[in-house]
Amino acid sequence: MGLEIHVQLATRTKLFCGCALEFGAEPNSRTCPVCLGLPGALPVMNRAAYEASVRFALAMNCKIAAFTKWDRKSYYYPDLPKNYQISQYDLPLGYEGFCDIDVEGGESKRIRIRRAHLEEDAGKNLHDVPGCSLVDLNRTGTPLLEIVTEPDIASAQEAFDFCTGLQKLAVYLGVSEASMQKGHMRFEPNINVEITRGSDVYRTPISEVKNLNSFRAVRDAIEYETQRQVQDWLSDENYVFGKAANENRGWNADKQMTEYQRSKEAAHDYRYFPDPDLMPVTTSADWVEKVRGELPESPTVRRDRLVSEFGLSPGDADLIVADRGDADLFDAAIDGDKTLAKRMTSLMLGAAKKSANDRDLTVSAVLSNAASWRQLVRMLEDGVVNASAGERLLLEAMEGDAAEVDFEQMAKDRNLIQVQDVGQMSAWVEQVFKDNAGAVQDALSNPKKAKAAPGFLTGKVMQISGGKADPKIVGQLIAAKIKEMQAG
Ligand SMILES: [Zn+2]
Repeated sequence: MGLEIHVQLATRTKLFCGCALEFGAEPNSRTCPVCLGLPGALPVMNRAAYEASVRFALAMNCKIAAFTKWDRKSYYYPDLPKNYQISQYDLPLGYEGFCDIDVEGGESKRIRIRRAHLEEDAGKNLHDVPGCSLVDLNRTGTPLLEIVTEPDIASAQEAFDFCTGLQKLAVYLGVSEASMQKGHMRFEPNINVEITRGSDVYRTPISEVKNLNSFRAVRDAIEYETQRQVQDWLSDENYVFGKAANENRGWNADKQMTEYQRSKEAAHDYRYFPDPDLMPVTTSADWVEKVRGELPESPTVRRDRLVSEFGLSPGDADLIVADRGDADLFDAAIDGDKTLAKRMTSLMLGAAKKSANDRDLTVSAVLSNAASWRQLVRMLEDGVVNASAGERLLLEAMEGDAAEVDFEQMAKDRNLIQVQDVGQMSAWVEQVFKDNAGAVQDALSNPKKAKAAPGFLTGKVMQISGGKADPKIVGQLIAAKIKEMQAG
């Protein structure tokens, strides 16, 4: 299989005009003569979109073209008012790249990227009013990066892993929100099956499954389609390889099957030609290197670092890296301190993750202040509060909307502080014995007050410990000390 993937770039404005890119705006309210395709309107390239594309292409290890141009892909459709789409035909901005994915057994597999090019999106036809179709041109001119892989993908799971990896990468790079709900990514797998008989290799016709908009659909459609192609061959005694044409198919999620749309032989002739309204794009090697130098750590590299540097399990590291905000929070909270990594991991992936998931949010989206997290992790590490108290404090903090949380104050207010440090408590006892010689004397030799004195001294220790000492242990320490003094 090979994949074609469209990723919507997160620019402020459209690819060739200044209209804002906004999700859910009033239909046709974000349009101008350029994206409406009015005669005489002239497009101007959005530099930020080009740079974002180059970032993405570089992160996929692509070569970057020093010279590219814009081409018109001609076709008529109601949501494409100027009757052509501006795209890059023979000179994509990025080419010959690769992305590595993890496959079973801890191995990694390289998926080659054939090309990545920038193009504009069409508008949207809406069919939800009976008897008519509506056209919304707000989306017209939205920058899309189209990524095309070589046919290196061997299973539905590999396709799934590749697509989710690409989404993560896009979010890490900040080039796309890559929200599946908002339709920021669309996938089109090209699928066929290789059948080997002895030394002969036969191939079934290629099906291109159009417009998949979820990772699950990618996996399900590929699984279905590979089975269907094998069944077609097995069930037809007169099957002739190479006879049937390649075809486009659609995914019917309700029926969990692909459906025939049209034969590839009927594919349109798009009459590509260079757009005379737009200047070609040239990039200098210096500029490309500058963009490369600014790339952030990729999710894969980051995952490996969390494993090697902080001793996280690969599974835990994956979960943390899955969201850039979460990964940033993790790094900022432990700030290179290996001793905090384990506890931070279990806090984030335990109660916090569940609580965030319940609200359809990420952990960092609920409580993002790294200093607060660090404070809580330290409190747990130092035994200031026990594990269940720590969890209780965290969940309570996540319920509130405070950006910053003073966990120590919270713990104090809820009387959850515990001091297990006997040395510290002994020091407090020493101090109290020094400051309260009268009471000590009572305890040692005043028959009337000997019984009450230890309680009084315990109270004093609790006082100077700010309520953090464990009164039971303090009582034992005081009794032992009095005994020792009596013996001495
Ligand atoms: Zn516009």
